[in-house]
Amino acid sequence: MTEQAYKLWQQGMPQWEIADKLKLRRADVTDIIKASPKIRLCPVCGNEFEYDAINKKYCSLMCKEKNRKEQAKADVRERGEKRSEMTSHVKKDCFAFDGACKALDKLYCAWEVCRFYKTKKQYEREKRG
Ligand SMILES: [Zn+2]
Repeated sequence: MTEQAYKLWQQGMPQWEIADKLKLRRADVTDIIKASPKIRLCPVCGNEFEYDAINKKYCSLMCKEKNRKEQAKADVRERGEKRSEMTSHVKKDCFAFDGACKALDKLYCAWEVCRFYKTKKQYEREKRG
């Protein structure tokens, strides 16, 4: 148990989460960590490093910065995917579609079934007769 708690902590898991996972009291986890050598594994480069409160999860400021950048990139990627997923639902054959929606103030068809959706052909047909 002690070994396991220490390993999890090394991998960067917060103490409360370890306590939760291993059904330990948080104070016990703290004791285990206090009694163990303060060696953690850097999640960025995988190197072992001596734990100090300044760098916390990372072996160096460089790794910390690198991780922050990676995280930011991942966020942008995720947002981009969400956006393209959304625009993929846009009914581009709708009579009101003209880059934006001419009938409504937003492209509601991007995230819900639009009651106003009609193809251009349908619209023409209805207008005629
Ligand atoms: Zn590192």
